[in-house]
Amino acid sequence: MSTALLRVKNLVKHFPIHGGLLSRVVDHVHAVDGVSFEVAAGETLGLVGESGCGKSTTGRCVLRLIEPTAGEVWFEGRDVTRLDKRSMRALCRDMQIIFQDPYASLNPRLTVEAIIGEALIIHGLAGKGSEYRDRIVDLLETVGLRGEHLRRFPHEFSGGQRQRIGIARALAVSPKLIICDEPVSALDVSIQAQVVNLLEDLQEKFGLTYLFIAHDLSVVEHISQRVAVMYLGRIVEIASARDLYTTPKHPYSEALLSAVPIPDPTIKRRRIVLQGDVPNPINPPKGCHFHPRCPKAMERCKVEAPLLREIAPGRVAACHLND
Ligand code: SF4
Repeated sequence: MSTALLRVKNLVKHFPIHGGLLSRVVDHVHAVDGVSFEVAAGETLGLVGESGCGKSTTGRCVLRLIEPTAGEVWFEGRDVTRLDKRSMRALCRDMQIIFQDPYASLNPRLTVEAIIGEALIIHGLAGKGSEYRDRIVDLLETVGLRGEHLRRFPHEFSGGQRQRIGIARALAVSPKLIICDEPVSALDVSIQAQVVNLLEDLQEKFGLTYLFIAHDLSVVEHISQRVAVMYLGRIVEIASARDLYTTPKHPYSEALLSAVPIPDPTIKRRRIVLQGDVPNPINPPKGCHFHPRCPKAMERCKVEAPLLREIAPGRVAACHLND
């Protein structure tokens, strides 16, 4: 693997809960609880888990859209968590985000030109005269839209087209890393494939690095070289996409994988239906967070939290079954 562009170390985000007459902090939501991973330059790391597992919060903490409670985020040798506002603004050129909801993430009052141009102006990349508009037209064409679209408003586009506008906005500043926060979850299945293909083409063309967040494994299967599986604020397994899809080493990864449809009808896979919901992140279960829902749980799992440790070269998992 090439050098890591992004290194996240023991990232923690606890959201305080206020209560009582004096609005004191009475508890915390343990959204992200000691997450560590690396993304190599040019790589796509899939980050997968059910809603509320902390994956989007992790992505936002990396960009400091949400301030982490603790931990380190190293990008090209600099700890992002220690940068002042000015340095952080400059670094935003290199790290961009594509949001889940293309309907909510674009300002409905702005034209496409203004939406994409905003980033160019903020970072002093607008150029002179016709350069500004030419650059926006170029970006629109790069994401499969047309130059004449620049005078239109977001409501005049379909969901897939709006997501393309969001991608053009992220590309405008020529970033190195893009956090793709469930970029296709709100789209029809047929459109999802088109957007994923576009992201793959752009990665090849511009040498982009992606942290690709999704709630199911089928979406990240083709785009990711490696996949990290998250459960209740913690990473439970990281493996190459191939290893994870063929031999998952954590019962939660196994359950997620069992829900992925197989195109070949002659291959049968037993569906593992997890009982119950994801536990409350205010008061996560003791021991292994997954034990109340794990079909393979043992007595030990209720009291002893498994460590995320290397079980094969380039592969880590947090489960006592791998001891
Ligand atoms: Fe299941 Fe125990 Fe492994 Fe947790 S440590 S995933 S409860 S077997």
